[in-house]
Amino acid sequence: MAKYIFVTGGVTSSLGKGIIAASLGKLLQARGLRVTIQKFDPYINVDPGTLNPYEHGECFVTEDGAETDLDLGHYERFLSIHTSQANNVTTGRIYQTVINKERAGDFLGKTVQVVPHITDEIKRRMQLIGKTGAFDIVLTELGGTVGDIESLPFIEAVRQLQWELPEDDVTVVHLTLVPYLKAAKELKTKPTQHSVKMLSETGVHPDVIVCRTEEPLGIEIKRKIALFCNVKQEAVIEAMDASTIYEVPLLMLREKLDLYCMKKLNITNFEEPKLDKWKLFLDKLKYPKSKVTIGLIGKYIELQDAYKSILESFIHAGAMNEVKVEIVNVHSEYINHENVSEKLEGLDGLLVAPGFGLRGIEGKIIAVKYAREKALPFFGICLGMQMAVIEFGRNVLGLKDAHSTEMNANTPHPVINMMEEQKKIKMMGGTMRLGAYPCDIQSNTLAYEIYGCNKITERHRHRFEFNNEYLADFENAGMVASGKNEETGLVEIIELPSHPFFIGVQYHPELKSTVEKPAPLFVHFIAAAKKYNEAKSSLATSVIKK
Ligand code: GLN
Repeated sequence: MAKYIFVTGGVTSSLGKGIIAASLGKLLQARGLRVTIQKFDPYINVDPGTLNPYEHGECFVTEDGAETDLDLGHYERFLSIHTSQANNVTTGRIYQTVINKERAGDFLGKTVQVVPHITDEIKRRMQLIGKTGAFDIVLTELGGTVGDIESLPFIEAVRQLQWELPEDDVTVVHLTLVPYLKAAKELKTKPTQHSVKMLSETGVHPDVIVCRTEEPLGIEIKRKIALFCNVKQEAVIEAMDASTIYEVPLLMLREKLDLYCMKKLNITNFEEPKLDKWKLFLDKLKYPKSKVTIGLIGKYIELQDAYKSILESFIHAGAMNEVKVEIVNVHSEYINHENVSEKLEGLDGLLVAPGFGLRGIEGKIIAVKYAREKALPFFGICLGMQMAVIEFGRNVLGLKDAHSTEMNANTPHPVINMMEEQKKIKMMGGTMRLGAYPCDIQSNTLAYEIYGCNKITERHRHRFEFNNEYLADFENAGMVASGKNEETGLVEIIELPSHPFFIGVQYHPELKSTVEKPAPLFVHFIAAAKKYNEAKSSLATSVIKK
């Protein structure tokens, strides 16, 4: 049976609980244990699928089509595992289940209450994956900050599990902040003490305290935290700010976070951590040989979390190519025909991001045109691919006002159209074409060169698709649909053989990129950008020489 590690957070949000959980998971996995990670979120949305990226960052989609919190992306990228619907549970989902049971009469006339009915359902879900027998360790990250009203039922569920399960089956790791006060030139432990006190008042005492800090804690501060928070000194873990999130597992290894947790859980059968691949990746990431500049064209660019998986995929692909990938965020709303060359000057590649709705659309289309005409490496994801289709329709095929019916329901040329099965759907949550679907790749195409095979599966999240009524015209004019879903004929990949690197995909390759297995599309896109950059530099040198 699985053992459970709960990760809670105190003092403030944004301390990086997800990264700490993923790093601890990585270390335990590297020691030969079978590990999975799940996240319990206190908000009432049934899942984050209906949340605006400004509210909650990117919505991460799993193989089985669950719309989940972006931390699941970190878990997958760090551990190279697939998570599922069961790995992300919200208050909304818990209540939905309990209320459905109540309506079905399952509570036999009893008053339905937070304790025990809601907490029972939380506990059931906390142990769901653990009970499959597939894992030695289930790490559970609790969203929110200790002290929030909405977190209380989750903390209470942890308290009950700690009481119900054998003592060495549950460990609680609490992440806090130890701020450095410049004026006093001192690290302050009081917020941590308060946070642990608040957690303890709810009946849960942390076994380990991980302290985010800008300065080394030193033995004295560790001793003080241990004493006042009632944990062993070796259970006070320093989590210094790192230059990259991918360094955190090694920092945690140095602090022996994994060893202490295994000691608490009475796990004695483990190996020396195998982290060779990870360290190799980190070396390449930290010591790049050159640099490429990629323009990310989107409408949520103020908020980096909105494109989390894309940004991480660039990091993986950059390390593979031994280049630093510098991202220039370009707000699509401010691109127009007059300023496009100025806005996109100096780029070695262009990525047009996924998205929804009308805002910033024309800017994206103008950016695609620029990349197509200037032979600049282009990569379009989901909405980005759809924009490439519209641009080609308008400017190459001369289909005036060609559009997607998402933005213009009355366009004379609906080159992107709503999928047939989507037309009857009225509800918004969880109803898009979601999760992994197969795609057949045509030989002798760029897509084939990238993937090296004819059959792939990738993850999706969309309602609209390429309108196949236009396919023959597009192909006659030089755009190739190099990847399709065999069953439905849905166009998954488009490319322009006349261009050095121009590819658009209906799916989201960024959702499957991990440290150990970077997404091939990103790797090849960065390789194309590197080539473009080198050609540019050698041209510049030859001009200087002249
Ligand atoms: N809005 C588009 C659609 O629903 C694209 C979605 C996306 O980029 N994820 O098809």
